[in-house]
Formats: sequence, C-alpha cells, structure tokens
Amino acid sequence: MSFISIKEYVEKRKRELKEKFDSLPKKPTLYIFQAGDNAASNAYIKGKIKDGEELGVKTVLIKTKDLEGLSGYYANYKQFLRDSIHTFRVQAGMINETYGIIVQLPLPEWTKVTERQVKEMISPSMDVDGFNPKSKTIPCTPLGILNYLKANKYPFEDSNAVVIGRSDIVGKPMAHLLLKENCNVTVLHSHTSEKNMFDYIANADLIIAAAGKRNLLNKKFTYKENAVIIDVGINRDEANKLCGDCERDLPVLYQSPVPGGVGLLTRLALFENLYALAKEREDKYGKGRVFD
Ligand code: NAD
Repeated sequence: MSFISIKEYVEKRKRELKEKFDSLPKKPTLYIFQAGDNAASNAYIKGKIKDGEELGVKTVLIKTKDLEGLSGYYANYKQFLRDSIHTFRVQAGMINETYGIIVQLPLPEWTKVTERQVKEMISPSMDVDGFNPKSKTIPCTPLGILNYLKANKYPFEDSNAVVIGRSDIVGKPMAHLLLKENCNVTVLHSHTSEKNMFDYIANADLIIAAAGKRNLLNKKFTYKENAVIIDVGINRDEANKLCGDCERDLPVLYQSPVPGGVGLLTRLALFENLYALAKEREDKYGKGRVFD
C-alpha cells in the first residue's frame, strides 16, 4: 500500500467536485458567521473562501467584530444568529436553493452563545459541518480522513484502529465510521494509562491522533512498521510553528503531515457535505418550493 500525498489527493478531488457543482441546476451558497477577529479563525475562513472560489461556489462572510457591530438592531449575538439563520432557511426554501451555514468556532465570550446552542440552531438541511446531532451530515474531519483512506484503498477489514481522543466532532464520529468499515476500534482518551497507551499503539495498524497534545506520539512508543498514522492535532511548538500530536518521522508506513494534512481534508469534506445537501434537495424537490 502506498499513499498519495494529501495535497495531490485534494487537488484531484477538487477538480471532480467542481464538475459535480457545475452539473447542479442551482449552485448552493455557503454562509459563514464569524464573531470577533481571532487570527486562527481568520486564517481558516480565508481557506474556506479560497476553496469556494476554486469550486465555483459562492461564499458569504458575515463578520461581527464586537457587540457594537450589531448596529443596534439586535440586543445580543444569540438573537442575531438565530434570526439570521431562520431568515436564510426561509429564503432558501422560497427560492429552492441550498444554503450551507457555518458558525466559526470558538465564539468569543461577549457573544454569550455556547457551542451547544450553535449546534442546535443550525437546521440539518444547512449543516455542512455536521454539528447538529440530528443531522445526517458526517462531521468534516472524520469524513475527510475516511475519504482519504478510501482513496488510498486502505484495508479496513479486521484492521486494528486506535483513535486517540473522544470529542463529539472528531474522536467519536471517527471511531464510529471506522467501526462501520469493519475495523477493530479502540478509543483512547485523557484517562487512558500510559501502559495501555503503549500496548494499544504497539498493536495498532491505523492510528488517528486527535488529542491536541504536541508530541503525544513519539519515538518512545513501538509501532508496527506497516502502521498508518493520521495526525489531526493542531498545536504550536516553541518557535510558534504549527505542529500535530505526533513527533515527525515516526518509523511507520505513512504519517500525515502537519501542516498540509488533515486541515486540507477537513476543508474538502466541508464542500463534499455542501454538495451532498444540494444534491439531496435537488433530487427530493426538483423545482418545487420547499421549507424544511
Ligand atoms: P477536544 O479538546 O474536544 O478533545 C480532545 C480529546 O483528546 C479528548 O477527548 C481527550 O480525552 C483526549 N485527550 C486529551 N489529552 C490526552 C492524552 N494525553 N492522551 C489521550 N487522549 C487525550 O479536541 P478536538 O476538537 O477533538 O480536536 C483535537 C485536536 O485536533 C485539536 O488539536 C484540534 O485543534 C485538532 N483539530 C484539527 C482539525 C483539522 O482540520 N486539522 C479539525 C478538528 C480538530
């Protein structure tokens, strides 16, 4: 088994996806809500807008820097967000178009909106991130990783997969997807003992590292020589450079890079999800008016 580089894979898949978007009678629009002016969020959003441009999908950024940015129409950000999303939903139904909604997280304190509230506000028909527990949409990071492994014909059947991290948007859905592919899945987390960590890693064929802890996996561990490591973590080293959860150049068959790795897969999966929602609407409702 050899792995094509993530960059190469993403470029190729984007070309295919562009053709798919072009074939839709009505292209969807992606709305991105951003509160505050966080540098990391600015960079992520810039990437999503760039991807949208490449795929011929219109993206609209609704950025509110602070409470004053609400211009007095709304008393608080929660009301603004709720009303805006509702208006978009009705409008999308009236013109029978798909609107994807992203609320860029984390939200600053002043918004007084919790992640849970965001998840519930976005209706499943618009939920490109797959945050709402009622959505059929698979969260972007696990979906992007699964698609990449499939593109490389990874032999899932009876493979010992170890997922490190059990968050609702990465670890848990990732474990669930791998289980569906017939892997033998183990989920490790912050309460896993060092001994168990060593034992499970030594026996792992596939490792998804999503703990957000720099150097969590390092050369002190033993690895199968044919092991595949997908590094989800985003951390900063002493020189403030981006790095993952894994030390570089571990003695395995393949280790995904950071940067230039899972982040690209996540961005791609966002548009895979947007396309799937638009196609579903098209198949279901054709030219009729829909309020869903
Ligand atoms: P989270 O903080 O919600 O969850 C982290 C998980 O890791 C927890 O379940 C915790 O139990 C586990 N954990 C923490 N310390 C551990 C340890 N020492 N050993 C084993 N498990 C441990 O984070 P998340 O949202 O799941 O994200 C995880 C990491 O992935 C973060 O660095 C995040 O920035 C990154 N991330 C990257 C992308 C991307 O596109 N590249 C997308 C999402 C998240």
